[in-house]
Amino acid sequence: MSSFDSLGLSEELLAAVREKGFEDPTPVQERTIPEILNHGRDIISLAQTGTGKTAAFGLPIVQLTDDLTSQTQALILSPTRELCLQIAKDIKSFASTRQRVQIVAVYGGSDIRSQIKQLKGPAHIVVGTPGRVIDLIDRGVLKIGNIRWLVLDEADEMLNMGFKDDIETILSSTPEERQTLLFSATMPPFIEKVVGQYMKDPMEIRIGKTNEGAANVEHQYYIVKAQDRYLALKRIVDMVPDIYGIVFCRTRQETKEIADKLIEDGYNADALHGDLSQAQRDMVMQRFRTKHLQLLVATDVAARGIDVMELTHVINYNLPDDAEVYVHRSGRTGRAGKSGISVSIIHTRELNRIRLIEKISHKKFIRCLVPSAEEICQKKLLHFIDGVINQDVDSDSTVSAFLPTIMESLSMLSKEEIVAKFIANEFETVNRYYQNAADLNVELAEDRKGKKEKGEKSGSDNAYLEKHDIARLFINIGKIDHIKATDIIGLINDYNRKLPQKVNIGHIDLNRNFSFVEVDRKWANEIINNMNGKVIDGYKLVVEMTEERARNRRSKENDSRKEYKNNKREYNSNPRKERGDKNRHRSKDNERPFSNKNNKGKKSNKK
Ligand code: AMP
Repeated sequence: MSSFDSLGLSEELLAAVREKGFEDPTPVQERTIPEILNHGRDIISLAQTGTGKTAAFGLPIVQLTDDLTSQTQALILSPTRELCLQIAKDIKSFASTRQRVQIVAVYGGSDIRSQIKQLKGPAHIVVGTPGRVIDLIDRGVLKIGNIRWLVLDEADEMLNMGFKDDIETILSSTPEERQTLLFSATMPPFIEKVVGQYMKDPMEIRIGKTNEGAANVEHQYYIVKAQDRYLALKRIVDMVPDIYGIVFCRTRQETKEIADKLIEDGYNADALHGDLSQAQRDMVMQRFRTKHLQLLVATDVAARGIDVMELTHVINYNLPDDAEVYVHRSGRTGRAGKSGISVSIIHTRELNRIRLIEKISHKKFIRCLVPSAEEICQKKLLHFIDGVINQDVDSDSTVSAFLPTIMESLSMLSKEEIVAKFIANEFETVNRYYQNAADLNVELAEDRKGKKEKGEKSGSDNAYLEKHDIARLFINIGKIDHIKATDIIGLINDYNRKLPQKVNIGHIDLNRNFSFVEVDRKWANEIINNMNGKVIDGYKLVVEMTEERARNRRSKENDSRKEYKNNKREYNSNPRKERGDKNRHRSKDNERPFSNKNNKGKKSNKK
């Protein structure tokens, strides 16, 4: 790796680099800086955001800018106001030792008159969004006929935002002899066209493979039911008390809803979406950038160009449709050598999309389990205790003044009692919230297999059932009867047609000679009344709540022989026998229902 000293930068610029705290050039800087300083070839850089591209073009351009003329010499186009301001700010910092070089940012949604005034300033380097640049060119204020460098930053994003025509207009208004530098994470056809038509023998710099996510980002996913997404989000956030991240949503509406809910639930969050005024956007961004806001809930469009360093997390509240959008989102964390985490909250049907993104980005995704209530409480508690330990108490603080009185009030309590009460008081809300909290993880077939191998219990726990208003019913038919889950669903639906609403049926556990089925708790009793004791093909159904089953297990076991006899007796009085039912032969051995494969359809023959 070379050092900044070997790239041809002047002492003035090297001083600015030192002031920025940059020690070594990044790969994109190593290749781009000398190429610009030597008036070399056009450059296409397929580098992800966070690779140091602003300094790669900014440092040499500042160095070569002639401050004795008032002409605009460089035009840098960027997709959003945010990015535009960020680039202008960075370039101003590179020009800290070349104060006469003037840098002006021009972008939509802001007073054009003050931008016109600044352009007359002079403006050696102009950073702008395409629409506003065209407007200023049309007004004759921005003159780009003599520029030496044209930079297209995040070119694919500009295209996505509909600036295609503006980019072509600008390109064709600039002098032939300019050096064009194009930065793009991807190469859609229009960008290829720009390269072919407007760039001369460009040198291609690929930093990592196209579409490859940043190396230091860990990709995690959590599988939950769609309706549990928000609860899962909260738990994931709860496990990282110092989280600083962006939560990506699909729509403005969803962005608003999630941000509102988070705020209501006491999280330090806010929304960024297209319905906000420019002033509101600026305020939210200012709070986020200064870390006064921990979670920014945003749409992809609103978050474009947000260049905030040190994000610990990017959270995909919903997976984007396009795998490349995922790569862009996750590239917002893990910048400038820092590590980051990209989290996706998905439901089972989205697993194949995770596999697709894995393939495109060449990254392995790690499946994580939504933390349990216990884990979260422990995490919060330890974080709180850490805070207490690290809290400075100045002898002249307001607290100190009250200490003698406080000590006296607490004097009748032991140290252990004080600690216990203090913590109980502090954690009352958290504990109450997480009491009986459900397991939000969706169990995949592979999990069930794994649990079985380890001899662990599979399926939903009681807290889950209660929380979701689901009851778990026992039915005395199982695999031995050659039934499938769909047969049980058919049976329940057939027997409960008279219910005012269709019964929602959840998880079904098929065991050897009995099954468990989850149903709406509100219909559980009716279902039991409608089914328990009914006879199918001479076999008497036993349907009851699992809780009762557990309580009555012992007595039921004693009754099992009786039940068998009863079944036999009931068969004997089965009217179908008299009607010459075609399944009559099965009853002779008191067969269980459905045992004859050809008889599957008979599951709904109720009496
Ligand atoms: P960029 O890709 O231009 O958005 O830069 C990403 C971040 O990396 C910015 O915060 C830069 O200040 C920082 N950065 C750029 N070049 C270097 C470098 N050579 N060493 C350390 N940090 C850098």
